[in-house]
Amino acid sequence: MIPLETLRAAPKVLLHDHLDGGLRPATVVDLARDIGYAGLPTTDAAELGRWFHASAASGSLSLYLRGFAHTIAVMQTEEALERVAYECGEDLARDGIVYAEVRYAPVFHTERGLNLEQVVQAVEKGFARAEHERGIAMRQIICAMRDRTDSLEMAELAVANRERGVVGFDIAGEEAGHPPKAHIEAFQLCRRENFSITIHAGEAFGPPSIWQALQYCGAHRIGHGVRLVEDMAISNGKVVKLGPLAAYVRDKRIPLELCPSSNVDTGAVPTLAEHPIRHFLAQSFRVTVNTDNRLMSHVTLSEELQRLSHAFGLTLAEVERLSINAMKSAFVGYDERVAIIYARVLRLVRHDSSLSSTHPPCVLTSY
Ligand SMILES: [Zn+2]
Repeated sequence: MIPLETLRAAPKVLLHDHLDGGLRPATVVDLARDIGYAGLPTTDAAELGRWFHASAASGSLSLYLRGFAHTIAVMQTEEALERVAYECGEDLARDGIVYAEVRYAPVFHTERGLNLEQVVQAVEKGFARAEHERGIAMRQIICAMRDRTDSLEMAELAVANRERGVVGFDIAGEEAGHPPKAHIEAFQLCRRENFSITIHAGEAFGPPSIWQALQYCGAHRIGHGVRLVEDMAISNGKVVKLGPLAAYVRDKRIPLELCPSSNVDTGAVPTLAEHPIRHFLAQSFRVTVNTDNRLMSHVTLSEELQRLSHAFGLTLAEVERLSINAMKSAFVGYDERVAIIYARVLRLVRHDSSLSSTHPPCVLTSY
């Protein structure tokens, strides 16, 4: 198993992390007190942290989502949003992450009078401060919700704020009964505006949801996508054939934002050892590893990677490959991606040869 300290020191990239799923428990308690929110199950920070995880790990997506009522309830002022955004950047930087795209649904933060623009700007302020003080590059992805009817407005908000660090548009929430193509106008707007799209798909629902996300909605990345494994023939624990959709995803190098611990918590996958990520890696998919909701899954990216090294022997060379994969799949411009890969992601490798034996010169064109 790779030591946690080694994983923390390795430069990492995070593409799928929810702002409202990553608060520090002590911050939730503080903000609830400030705002006069009395709905928390406890005001003891350590106990609250345990409550979030126990609630999330109950094996169903709807129970998993229960904790968000509390985090969202306390993220209703500009100060609160800025603080949460800043602390998010601080926590990720401490974990050795050099670039992160963090997503949230602005519409959830307007319960106490903020407008959508104010929400985006408050988050931007927190991210900018983290970037300035902690040296981590932070970008926003704006989510629409599958069960709502305002996805077009959210897409417009995302595109209108591309100069404020919003780099992508996503659709999140319960998959069953809410196919992505119901929000086709929002995706068409993003495509007309040359804007990047990622879609939560293939988590609670199978390959048809991934297929729609790609072929109807024009997704550039897939959030989760773990159930793409259902389009693969597996014999004796090994993939023997890819179905047409799985082959398309692999061959077109469509990034999968896999979130292993979150999948175990929601019951999408029984245990980490059984997680299909090993098949995706073996078949050379463009795999990235992500935390999804650090508070709910009680996990950091370094811990997530350590769990994978424990569960099926993920190596440090593979960790490096995952970071490069993620940076190559980021929604910032190609020039920034290349600059971050060479200046940050490969930095430790150049300075510390014990961290990795692989340092391919053609890193940007490989896998
Ligand atoms: Zn997610």
